[in-house]
Amino acid sequence: MSRAVPDVVDLAQRLVRRDTVEGRGELPLLEEMADLLRDAGFTCVLEGYDPPFPHRANLYARLSPDAPGEALFFGGHVDTVPFGNAPWDKDPLSGLVADGRLHGRGSCDMKGGVAAILCAALRLAPSLTGRDLVLHLYGGEEQGCRGSFYAARAAGHFGRPGAGIIAEPTGNQPLAGHKGALWLKLESKGRAAHGSMPEKGVNALDKLLPGACRLLAPRPEAVHPVLGKSSAALTTMRAGLNINSIPDTAALTLDMRTVPGQNHTALRREIAALAGEDVQLTTVLDVPPVWTDPSLPWCAATRRLLADPAGREPAVAGIAYFTDAAAVRAALPDLPLLILGPGEPAAAHTTNESCPLDHLRQAQNIYERLIRAWYRLQGNAAL
Ligand SMILES: [Zn+2]
Repeated sequence: MSRAVPDVVDLAQRLVRRDTVEGRGELPLLEEMADLLRDAGFTCVLEGYDPPFPHRANLYARLSPDAPGEALFFGGHVDTVPFGNAPWDKDPLSGLVADGRLHGRGSCDMKGGVAAILCAALRLAPSLTGRDLVLHLYGGEEQGCRGSFYAARAAGHFGRPGAGIIAEPTGNQPLAGHKGALWLKLESKGRAAHGSMPEKGVNALDKLLPGACRLLAPRPEAVHPVLGKSSAALTTMRAGLNINSIPDTAALTLDMRTVPGQNHTALRREIAALAGEDVQLTTVLDVPPVWTDPSLPWCAATRRLLADPAGREPAVAGIAYFTDAAAVRAALPDLPLLILGPGEPAAAHTTNESCPLDHLRQAQNIYERLIRAWYRLQGNAAL
């Protein structure tokens, strides 16, 4: 006997009350969600993505893994960033509902989106007999999409989706893609010596700084018509322990944001050449940019479905920050993907994070309409 479908606000509140800061508590939360999905007929697999840490996990759920036809895919993450140092007006784990908003860490990014996916899927599962519907809930997104890139290494978890939605906060606007990120660490080694006798040592800064200056010089930017320009910024720098010693190590980090068309391997090679041969380069994070052609039939149909009462369709848009869409794209290079979910993007990661309740209800409604439209297209008359 299947349970009643939870209310989307109640479920989002339940999720916010679970502490999943930096991946803690992921597994028990996902086990609870797997129970809900199993009751509705889903086959669920929980998989750890970071073996020394058993609480870190992904959940892969499929409604009918053997069903013919292409499924619709939904993805989201259950981990959150820390609360930060500034005091909150309300306890970040309260999940308090006030002033028409759900309050707490993750309400916007992105437990609200996860709740909306789950409620839409649970509600429509009984109408989808003989059809597959694929839901992935990842851990570790806030630490470089760790869960989703782990899942992407075994594409079998995805089944055969024909289109996908990542439910990150976009104010329920469909976004066609986002920038990529290439984070590099540049490091040089030297030999310590007394500051009065620099000739006895090797100064690591002397090796690092010429390359750093070359990196600061203007270089050509790549431009995407919607996502805008690529960027590169030196973000941290560390060297030396005290003023009267020659530093034996020096390091700096470079945060590059890329647009479709840029090749991260070529970019890394270019940075290595600028840094110089005395500098060691380490890739800290490599998340490619994502873009889905907005003129693809499913993308165009989705914009039509989201038109306002006057018939105005949402504009083709994208975002700067990266999401699990990059990992899904790595697993399924031809899969059309849209990023679409409740919550204002600017509220993500903030002190006093919150999400409008009407966004949550609207997101569930949009997902249900997308599911209905998809499976009707695939020949399911029951919807
Ligand atoms: Zn997120």
